[in-house]
Amino acid sequence: MIPFNIPPYVGTENEYIADAIQSHKICGDGAYTKRCQELLEQRTGAAKVLLTNSGTDALEMAALLCDLKTGDEVILPSYTFSSTANAFALFGAKLVFVDIRPDTMNIDETLIEAAITEKTKVIVPVHYAGVACEMDTIMDIANRHNLLVVEDAAQGVMSTYKGKALGAIGHIGCYSFHETKNYSMGEGGAILINDTKLVERAEIVREKGTNRSNFLRGQVDKYTWVDIGSSYLPSELNAAYLYGQLQSADKINENRLASWNCYKEGLQELANSGRIELPVVPEGCVHNAHMFYIKVKDLEERTQLQQYLREQEIQTAFHYIPLHSAPAGLKFGRFHGEDCYTTKESERLVRLPMYYGLNTNDIQHVVNSLQKFYF
Ligand SMILES: *Cc1c(COP(=O)(O)O)cnc(C)c1O
Repeated sequence: MIPFNIPPYVGTENEYIADAIQSHKICGDGAYTKRCQELLEQRTGAAKVLLTNSGTDALEMAALLCDLKTGDEVILPSYTFSSTANAFALFGAKLVFVDIRPDTMNIDETLIEAAITEKTKVIVPVHYAGVACEMDTIMDIANRHNLLVVEDAAQGVMSTYKGKALGAIGHIGCYSFHETKNYSMGEGGAILINDTKLVERAEIVREKGTNRSNFLRGQVDKYTWVDIGSSYLPSELNAAYLYGQLQSADKINENRLASWNCYKEGLQELANSGRIELPVVPEGCVHNAHMFYIKVKDLEERTQLQQYLREQEIQTAFHYIPLHSAPAGLKFGRFHGEDCYTTKESERLVRLPMYYGLNTNDIQHVVNSLQKFYF
């Protein structure tokens, strides 16, 4: 069986975890957390990067930092993972879903402005498959309406938009280091604070609402509870796993891109004949090969294709059930405008096996199987 995903492993993980154990510092914010954060700050240009326990945690921290009042509105795509919406619903926000663009599956930036009301507080673009949303337009809308932008860049680590790292463009960015993402620590994530006014509060929110970070830097002589927050910091054991992966980030990225290009070349003929559609990467966007997906005719064809590929020992996946039609989405949100693409496109998307170290012969087997299914 060719698995859909294998968590990334570069070979330094055991040594670094052993080192963390032997240093007798296994709780959060030790040497490995600092190394990961510094590396990510250098690579992204973010004013402050803080590791979290998950991408979900990073989004929840972001929602907390947005200082929402009950009934404040947040604009986001319906085609995304539940955590994007859940984080804001937790703090009492009303979710306003808008449609996606069929080419990138990202929020349609031309529909955002019409969804803005006097209650709108935040726009949450999701960089699907590590391909950037149209950030110039989104930042322009946010600036003109005085809104915050929280980028869900869970899938976008190492991707760029016009030369800028995803997650480092909006006021806040969120990364995931879940085992299904390009770089992993088992469960984990990071919040990127780009608006320097939010840095101090971010540190407090992450440390149970205390000013412990100021205390550790010697800026105050005792630490105490100063605001609401939670415990969003991961253990050093997880940070140690991540550190080696971040050191090898280019190697992992190049390997994934090579696999992605191999799929793209192999499937071009099927796309040219109109049987399937391949992913689109707009100009100005450099992606990270987070996923390789194809789009087929409809839901029925997708079900048949996935069954056929299973018989060829190929594991595939699909997602997402549009949030606006999910029980919690109906409760906490509404869809603004018409659902032209969210539901239709989500039903015909199939994700092919994609992970660090994916074998070229396996890619060839997937390509051949797809050709056999169609020709
Ligand atoms: C993976 C993912 C998340 C959540 O990240 P976790 O680390 O699993 O909590 C959020 N949003 C998107 C778009 C994701 O792909």
